[in-house]
Amino acid sequence: MKYVDEFRDPNAVHVLSREIHRITRHPWTIMEVCGGQTHSIVRYGLDRLLPPAITLIHGPGCPVCVTPIELIDAACQLASLPEVIFCSFGDMLRVPGSHEDLLRVKAQGGDIRIIYSPLDAVGIAQSNPQSQIICFAVGFETTAPAQAMAVLQARRLHLSNFSLLVAHVLVPPAMKAILSSPENRVQGFLAAGHVCSVMGYEMYEPICLRYRVPIVVTGFEPVDILEGVQLVIAQLEEGRHKVDNQYARSVHRSGNLEARKVVDEVFESASRNWRGIGEIPESGLQLRQTFAEFDALRTFQDRIHLSSPANDLESECQSGRILQGIMQPSACSAFGTRCTPDHPLGAPMVSSEGACAAYYRYRHHEVGPGEQ
Ligand code: SF4
Repeated sequence: MKYVDEFRDPNAVHVLSREIHRITRHPWTIMEVCGGQTHSIVRYGLDRLLPPAITLIHGPGCPVCVTPIELIDAACQLASLPEVIFCSFGDMLRVPGSHEDLLRVKAQGGDIRIIYSPLDAVGIAQSNPQSQIICFAVGFETTAPAQAMAVLQARRLHLSNFSLLVAHVLVPPAMKAILSSPENRVQGFLAAGHVCSVMGYEMYEPICLRYRVPIVVTGFEPVDILEGVQLVIAQLEEGRHKVDNQYARSVHRSGNLEARKVVDEVFESASRNWRGIGEIPESGLQLRQTFAEFDALRTFQDRIHLSSPANDLESECQSGRILQGIMQPSACSAFGTRCTPDHPLGAPMVSSEGACAAYYRYRHHEVGPGEQ
């Protein structure tokens, strides 16, 4: 797109801001799906460069935040087993389960290791044949290819001590659930550029048609986000609803075909419970039957107890409303008081992509608890 080569030029931000002011005629509410984009918006104050008629709301694209509490509980139980080395991205360790988090399990002696790639966990499995290695497979379509590659690599190496605790979630079903909600406010979406780098954007085209919303595939630099907003507003003002690709320097319509093939070989879609939101049909991934021996829940089904999927919906944490864009973080009565990054009540305050963490980090000095 026009401005992407200038994303280090602060003037480009102001040029885009002026252009958005020029074309805006009506009030519009736009959701950025990705937590990384939320952090850019709050960090750089991009929402404050927009006309008052434009409202940006934050979506469910924080994988740590939406991992259901029953899988955190399962992770804690699995990590407590004496023969298990539990491998996870660092963000997951402080996400509260029903009674404890992985950090506490680690403090109590559980062998929990922070990894930066699922292939690290395969290496740990090779080096520790006497142990069972479980990798916590968390994330959206972006991280699924690496987890799928780890499974294929474990099979190639004939490893019988490697498995996944699968918590993968998918973006399009969540967008459809938000648009179908009676409380929906979203009139246009910024879709996450990294997800589309893997999956492309063909799957968004039916959503635009069915719900009559524009979707713009958008990058992460301030100028990317403002250009994405400009493209959404241009469509809304002209009554159009199609997919635009602001992030064309990385995203093609069909995505990364090799990565999609690997994911499709190892995983299939399944219903998934989203933390604070509830079950969304076909919104998760599970291992295909041909890879069932790599499913930690199946291997250890007699050693752990899965808690009820719905038992977090009545918690004080309002994460479900935050993740659906119904409420801003600073409107939560616990924000900045009973809930802080040191003492989080919910995952959005823990994760580096969580909306509550973004507001706390960049704006808590200017908003009191309970303020909008
Ligand atoms: S501020 Fe804390 S308690 Fe409130 S919604 Fe965010 S994470 Fe949950």
